Amino acid sequence: MNWTVDRYDLPLSNPFGISRETSETSETVIVELTHEGTTGIGAVTPSAYYDESAQSVAETLPALCETVGRIGDPHAQQRIERDLAEQAPDQPAARMALSIAVHDLAARQLDLPLYRQWGLDPDAVPPTTYTVGIDSAERMAEKVREAVDNGFGHLKVKLGTEDDRARFDAVRDAAPDAELRVDANAAWTAQEAIENADWLTDAGVTMLEQPVAADDIDGLRRVTDATDIPVAADESCVTASNVPRVADACDIVNAKLVKCGGLRPATRLLNAADAHGLELMLGCMVESNASIAAAVHLAPLVDYVDLDGALLLEADPYAGVPLDGDVFDLTAVSAGTGVRRTTNA
Ligand SMILES: [Mg+2]
Repeated sequence: MNWTVDRYDLPLSNPFGISRETSETSETVIVELTHEGTTGIGAVTPSAYYDESAQSVAETLPALCETVGRIGDPHAQQRIERDLAEQAPDQPAARMALSIAVHDLAARQLDLPLYRQWGLDPDAVPPTTYTVGIDSAERMAEKVREAVDNGFGHLKVKLGTEDDRARFDAVRDAAPDAELRVDANAAWTAQEAIENADWLTDAGVTMLEQPVAADDIDGLRRVTDATDIPVAADESCVTASNVPRVADACDIVNAKLVKCGGLRPATRLLNAADAHGLELMLGCMVESNASIAAAVHLAPLVDYVDLDGALLLEADPYAGVPLDGDVFDLTAVSAGTGVRRTTNA
């Protein structure tokens, strides 16, 4: 087995703001694995919030690729996952990139799209939200109008600022008919969240994501108990092992490959959340199609999709699963994840 590891800093169309930071590039690590003439592509955009970086991932991946090479069979996914988890227990982002490449390679060798290898229903993919980052109220309203013009009926609005009400009102006015979900990225206290949920309810908001700090599970529960808006746990629920602690404190779990370390761990997170009676969501970072496409193949399993990250890039050297309006069309994928390089970055 041969592999390459490359880093790209992909520029965003606009600076992307959330409550704790604003980013202008998506720091991406791409891994390509070749076995018996077939190549699988995987990628990740690590998050400093979860203590990983493009540098730490790029430094770790060669040793992880060696482990996969030693195993020598991309279909030995249980063993690959176990050995990588033992080798890099605290580096789920690095494991995610390789997990995607291994799954893409194995499915391509079978000449099957990944969703078909798993037997999932391509017609069960929910529409994706389009995310509007924190900016001035005027800019947020502009972005919302653009998104609606581009066919997105479900929008995710980032809040967690000094002046959330003015920003939100501008968004609501700009898209009176859109379904709006709000993500505070852990910025509010439980009391603030409960107060904000009042006017968000009046405005018809349909989801409140991570209103409070990641470790404030009691606060999360208080918010969930106080509002009729379904509450989603993102930063509070990283892997399957976190599901029991949030199970009675929220309504929805937002699963991301970068948090839990790849496709098999994400499936376990979704299964655990489902078993606890929670609704399921798949999310992403602002990242390349080379990583998002893999998550799209899990989308038939979930109730909510937020996999718009590649749409926020100025240019993405990789194409992934095409959108039909605001729904990813898995039937357009002929093999693997469907990712292919379109330009040289
Ligand atoms: Mg979130």
